[in-house]
Amino acid sequence: MDSEIIEEENHSIRILLKGTDRASVNALRRTMIADTPKMAIHRIRFTQSTTEEDGVIWESVGPISDEIVSHRLAMIPIPSEGAEFHLPEECPECADLVESQRGCPTCEIIYRCTVKGEPEGRAVKARDLEVLGDLKFSIPEEFQDITITKLYTGQLIDFIARAKKGHGRDHVKWQPVAGITFYARQHGVLNDKKAAKVLWKLGLTIKEKDFKNGRIEDIATVEQLKKDLLHVGPSTDHGREFADAITLEDVPGEYILQYESDGSMLPKTIFEDATAILSSRLDNISADLDIVL
Ligand SMILES: [Zn+2]
Repeated sequence: MDSEIIEEENHSIRILLKGTDRASVNALRRTMIADTPKMAIHRIRFTQSTTEEDGVIWESVGPISDEIVSHRLAMIPIPSEGAEFHLPEECPECADLVESQRGCPTCEIIYRCTVKGEPEGRAVKARDLEVLGDLKFSIPEEFQDITITKLYTGQLIDFIARAKKGHGRDHVKWQPVAGITFYARQHGVLNDKKAAKVLWKLGLTIKEKDFKNGRIEDIATVEQLKKDLLHVGPSTDHGREFADAITLEDVPGEYILQYESDGSMLPKTIFEDATAILSSRLDNISADLDIVL
């Protein structure tokens, strides 16, 4: 399978895959969703306290229950790019421990958050998560504005949150991709020059001269053609007259895979990780088959 990035912008990407088939691309898609690990907050210890300061009683309470706060924390993208963390169950330091005891500097990131309310209300944001250890694992600037809860005078929140590596198949908080889909690459084919005039008359983006020898092959131009064709589709006033003047033809063995990263990793890294995971799994299967057969 050959791959070529055709568009990469912030957290979204489109990749052209060549010399493959639908089942293989779907296997890659499933691997990205379920089997490509990333870091996410998994365990949180809330400190319960009641103190009095200058006549004000401060209690570890808030408008949102601890369970919901935990859920919100789990959804915050934790930097996983290039993070050489182990999965806790494979960590050389703690794999032998019982699950609740696992966690060491090579398999988890710890964040601390202590915020007191204010008379006008104080939003507790992702930026209030203070990383204990390497600052490169601080919540990235663009996600610092994620609100976790809001506190007023007398309310406080104090917790330690631990992020660990996991798989999307166990919980969606460990899924690095969103909106992942793929479709066959297509070429535009001009079948009937006379009937196609219906489209040119509308003065949309694609013109007759965009067709070279009756075809459009450029990916971006075909995308635009697809949009233009909606104006002359079967359910429009022009449908009957236009008919099949221009059609779209699947290119054998070529697919376009598109998705967004949740922000914890670059979309390109997710692709590289997923292809490595999938190919090692396939190698394992063929090795097993060699033994059995
Ligand atoms: Zn460990």
